[in-house]
Amino acid sequence: MKIHEFQAKEILRQAGVAVLRGAVATTPDEAAAAFTSMGGDLAVIKAQIHAGGRGKGTIQDIPEQHGVQLIRSAEEARSVAANLLNHKLVTIQTGPAGQTVRRVFIEEGCAIDRELYLGIVLDRAAKQPVLMVSTEGGVEIEKVAEETPEKIHKANFDPHVGLESFQVRRLAQQLGLTGIAAKSADGFLKALCRVFVDYDCSLTEINPLVVTKAGELVALDAKMSFDDNAIFRHPQVAKFRDIGEEEPAEVRAGKAGLSYVKLDGNIGCLVNGAGLAMSTMDIIKLHGGEPANFLDVGGGAKTEQVIEAFNILLEDPNVKGVLVNIFGGIMRCTTIASALVEAYKTVGFNVPLVVRLEGTEVEEGRKIIAESGVDIVTADGLTDAAKKIVAAAS
Ligand code: ADP
Ligand code: MG
Repeated sequence: MKIHEFQAKEILRQAGVAVLRGAVATTPDEAAAAFTSMGGDLAVIKAQIHAGGRGKGTIQDIPEQHGVQLIRSAEEARSVAANLLNHKLVTIQTGPAGQTVRRVFIEEGCAIDRELYLGIVLDRAAKQPVLMVSTEGGVEIEKVAEETPEKIHKANFDPHVGLESFQVRRLAQQLGLTGIAAKSADGFLKALCRVFVDYDCSLTEINPLVVTKAGELVALDAKMSFDDNAIFRHPQVAKFRDIGEEEPAEVRAGKAGLSYVKLDGNIGCLVNGAGLAMSTMDIIKLHGGEPANFLDVGGGAKTEQVIEAFNILLEDPNVKGVLVNIFGGIMRCTTIASALVEAYKTVGFNVPLVVRLEGTEVEEGRKIIAESGVDIVTADGLTDAAKKIVAAAS
């Protein structure tokens, strides 16, 4: 689960991480009032969407308007807010369709001396979280990782112990921190690592982490994602969920107990088991196709779930064919075959459907499909299935 920048900053503030004062607005008037209440003569207005790259991103129908802008008056706050609110912001992370801005964050203006990068993720190989920092902040860190990986400095830390002082000293030196910034690094970096662990984050990213002209460290941007399976432990985080930012089909799938992730291809996939779903997507690509989604109906898929899964797949206008790949392990192939036939009849298919069944009672299952009279192509093995669906969908 993702949250907005202003929400992440609230969590950081509570944890003792330095962030600037700010206020959320949903109308141009509120934005103007927020500027005035800040009391300064410089502020920044920032579109709140669950995607990064807002500073460089532009509003779809007002190409000169970016998603982050310096403002110097309440009037300017009002007019920029009007450009952003209820308009679509297109960034490298939203795709060309963009994402509608429903809130803006008005934040105190910051006198920036240096922009650094900080990110914390789980390092699966080390079985520990890893803190990554770089002097190359404010830009795409993926580019830095690819072109100048030596500029990214890492420190693994034990989730129970947290980041240790000797690690902070080394990182501060690598970042070239001096004076006040070097002194406050200990509290700052340790608090961020503590937040990552305490809130069951899958990502905590501060880009840019700035050194101000006064020499202080401030989290100027904040991105946090959380492990969905741990949200129940964090009621405050659960309240931050903004369904309006999520893919509607994914929300609907979640309600039906399906694991669904929308992708850009044209072959819909319905599979039982996450590993099988991954290999199904791989084999579709191997044979020249592009999967339209990841969809795991789980080990004990019920007829209603299969129907809902088909509905979700067929609602995607990009889907030109559907591949069903089921391994009857926990469930018998006969149960799945009957569910498929019923779902097919209920949903009303307008694209080709290829089914590959394997496992318990597979012969009987195939017979059910063959004798049902519905237009389902059966396949022998995964390769055959992939070839058939790629040919049918192209
Ligand atoms: P995004 O990563 O989505 O583009 P950021 O929050 O990183 O959004 O903002 C983009 C850039 O805008 C930052 O790199 C920084 O230079 C500038 N910026 C952001 N917030 C402020 C602020 N409060 N004061 C001054 N400049 C800011
Ligand atoms: Mg940023």
